[in-house]
Amino acid sequence: MSYCWAEIDLNAILFNLKKIREIVGDNVKIMAIVKADAYGHGLEEVAKQISSKENVYFGVSSLQEGIRLREEGIDEPVVNLLPPLPQDIREMVHWGITPIITNDGIAKLIDDECKRQGKILPVHIKIDTGMGRLGIRPESAVDFVLKIREYGNLFLEGIYTHFASADTDKEFTEYQLKVFLTTLKKLEEKGIKFPLRHSANSSAILNFSSSHLDMVRPGIALYGVNPSPYNSVKLKPAMSVKAKVIQVKELPAGHSISYGRTHILSRNTRVAVIGIGYAQGLLRALSNKGSVLINGKRAPILGIICMDQCVIDVTDSGEVRVGDEAVIMGKQDAEEITAWELANLSGTIPYELLTAFGHQLPRRYKFSEQ
Ligand SMILES: *Cc1c(COP(=O)(O)O)cnc(C)c1O
Repeated sequence: MSYCWAEIDLNAILFNLKKIREIVGDNVKIMAIVKADAYGHGLEEVAKQISSKENVYFGVSSLQEGIRLREEGIDEPVVNLLPPLPQDIREMVHWGITPIITNDGIAKLIDDECKRQGKILPVHIKIDTGMGRLGIRPESAVDFVLKIREYGNLFLEGIYTHFASADTDKEFTEYQLKVFLTTLKKLEEKGIKFPLRHSANSSAILNFSSSHLDMVRPGIALYGVNPSPYNSVKLKPAMSVKAKVIQVKELPAGHSISYGRTHILSRNTRVAVIGIGYAQGLLRALSNKGSVLINGKRAPILGIICMDQCVIDVTDSGEVRVGDEAVIMGKQDAEEITAWELANLSGTIPYELLTAFGHQLPRRYKFSEQ
């Protein structure tokens, strides 16, 4: 029995996938982004669930994740969104993991290896239209692609770009899309057409239908969190985080709580200790700020969050006993603590919280009623 855990609702992920399908229509392909262990939700479990319902591509962030999917029997196309390391190319070709291409030298190595193994590998070319991270600059794109086209064992399946601020900056997103479409047009003038042109992450899926093109790449929306807190599309959060009460006691007014004595009790207080701390993803930045749900009501976090424990005020929470369940993120009765609430309080974004919780907590899977 663990003191804390993440509960993953696989039906919520299917619900969100269906929502995304409704938004993009039937003619747009979906690359389900399952990188970073499916944003902490569990790569194999999530991918198997999705694969049983929808025909998708999968996007991962390492060769190792791609191989894990193959070993799980997933035979859909899997794209590694980070460029391959030279030492990984042999395995990558062996397992049929689709690379992104951002460098001619690596493309040549991949082509050589494909020839050695007698295979044709699909590849996706990445264009940097403004993110300033991976990808070929638009002005070099035509020459670059013409060169890559010479490699006989690479199939130019996809070309894509990534938005820097689809959640916050409409103008820049439209600019990036325009640069991308202009680049595609120049390529077409040279007779080069890619079957899969893609650009939309979750924000762009929800806010910029003109960016959907041939394929969309939802990540955070699949897991039920809106990429920006202002969006009204109703998604179902798939991850909840829970912890057990491990002690309850009364402390007098004036007593201090936890390391550094940052909280001094202003009244006689019933405190509970719960078995979750920053080593399990409950960010220390939530010290003295956050609250948890217990008996369907909010109980404030008192003092500094420790490595594996924290203290909460349960004076107004009714009867609380050792073994009771506290909700750190998610719903309890009518109350809910969302990933956005925790992110805003701790100065981060839901992505970081989901991965922090998901990578550090044991996971329990469930299927909610639809
Ligand atoms: C992570 C990632 C996505 C998904 O982004 P969300 O904002 O989670 O939807 C899409 N495309 C690329 C290239 C990514 O790295």
